[in-house]
Amino acid sequence: MYLYNTLTHKREEFVPVEPGKVKMYTCGPTVYHYAHIGNLRTYMMEDILDRYLRYSGYEVKRVMNITDVGHLTSDGDTGDDKMLKGAKREKKTVMEIAKFYTDAFFLDCDKLHIRRPDVVEPATGCIEDFIKVISALIEKDFAYEAGGNIYFDTAKLKEYYAFHNFSEEDLEVGVRDGVEADSNKRNKADFVLWFTKSKFDDQELKWESPWGIGYPGWHIECSCIAMKHLGERLDIHCGGIDNAFPHHTNEIAQSEAYLGHKWCNYWMHVLHLNTNSGKMSKSSGEFLTVSLLESKGYDPLVYRFFCLQSHYRKSLVFSYENLDNAKTSYKKLVNRIVPLIKAEAGEIDPDAFEAMKKRFTDALDNDLNTSLAITALYDVFKSDASAATKLKAIEDMDTVLQIGVIDSAKALIEEEKRAAEEKAARLAADPESAAIEEKIAMRAAAKKAKNFAEADRIRDELAAQGIILEDRPGETLWKRA
Ligand code: AMP
Ligand code: ZN
Repeated sequence: MYLYNTLTHKREEFVPVEPGKVKMYTCGPTVYHYAHIGNLRTYMMEDILDRYLRYSGYEVKRVMNITDVGHLTSDGDTGDDKMLKGAKREKKTVMEIAKFYTDAFFLDCDKLHIRRPDVVEPATGCIEDFIKVISALIEKDFAYEAGGNIYFDTAKLKEYYAFHNFSEEDLEVGVRDGVEADSNKRNKADFVLWFTKSKFDDQELKWESPWGIGYPGWHIECSCIAMKHLGERLDIHCGGIDNAFPHHTNEIAQSEAYLGHKWCNYWMHVLHLNTNSGKMSKSSGEFLTVSLLESKGYDPLVYRFFCLQSHYRKSLVFSYENLDNAKTSYKKLVNRIVPLIKAEAGEIDPDAFEAMKKRFTDALDNDLNTSLAITALYDVFKSDASAATKLKAIEDMDTVLQIGVIDSAKALIEEEKRAAEEKAARLAADPESAAIEEKIAMRAAAKKAKNFAEADRIRDELAAQGIILEDRPGETLWKRA
């Protein structure tokens, strides 16, 4: 399998540290609000990587943090602490906010078929671990105390900008809004590991530490949680592209300073989902959540299908028009699967199955090309293999893609069956009305097929029986004259 590695700026063959095993870390959500569908694009593409590694036979251990304390990296941060802001907005405690939005996040993940990582660790559960690593960094002279806070000294590193080939534009994405100079810092890039004094003095959550009562900075959370559960060497670290700098750059700095050796071999970054008006936001414009899409009649799996049609290393524009196109294609795809399910169970042709599977794995082996993987799924219909072979291939592909097309096709078949049963029951109870409704349906079908002569003939036939029709938008009412 080949993966693009942000660290080397190359597509590289994926070779884990320990053969057959993958240690994978994902930056989790800051639980101060619902996740927007942009955040969820990132989690979905990471989910594809996780599922595909398992599908390819690797034993994967995946860890994710929950940022439930602060989201601060420097005393220069202006604005509010995100968690505190959420608590104030909803008149709840920080922990209540964290619990509510963690649950909401996983509910959205379930709807999008995003597998829950093997370990999910809230930052508030790891304070001891942060203190241990920060103490060691001070001991090794990689960290210093200034103005009551502990800072990481970036000048002590041979190379700080680990993703140094980043373009100016990429680096700009990473710089958080509203950051002002912090006079405590020795170097511009230094960042806070532990706060005891900050302008955010109304912090609800504070802990004892060797440096006074305070709370951790954001970056140290991920390094410590990853090392706690995955040890000293990580295979893959994932996140959205905005995390590459400064968050991941700082994770590398402090982890490698602490460990004294290379920490993570592959860095996978997902490009952003944007709207036509630009960056996706939780505070301005329409706050795009999974629930909002559902309230507008979209199945969350249609959103998954929409995302998979693009490569994770390209930014993607969200619009309802684009989502509608995905919805139409999804319906068509489901309709093509219906006859495969209805077909009598036949023999599976192993050669044809393997050929279909190969097209699929070739696509995903090539830096997770999900849009080509979906093309491989469509290619199944072109084959003259048995329906059973085709169905098995689609089923197999959907263990990774998780777009739920087979379940949707089964649900459609059930729905058709129910409608047919209801119709039969109606016919039995009131055969006269049922016959009239049947004719009205035939007339609607004729009109749709632009066979207006036939539509008029049916109307006249009903009129001759004393039935008067009244056409309304989308339906036809009837009454006896
Ligand atoms: P946060 O909860 O803000 O820490 O973000 C959660 C994840 O979503 C991180 O991996 C971010 O890099 C990622 N992310 C943020 N904005 C977007 C976006 N517009 N599109 C895709 N991913 C995003
Ligand atoms: Zn992180």
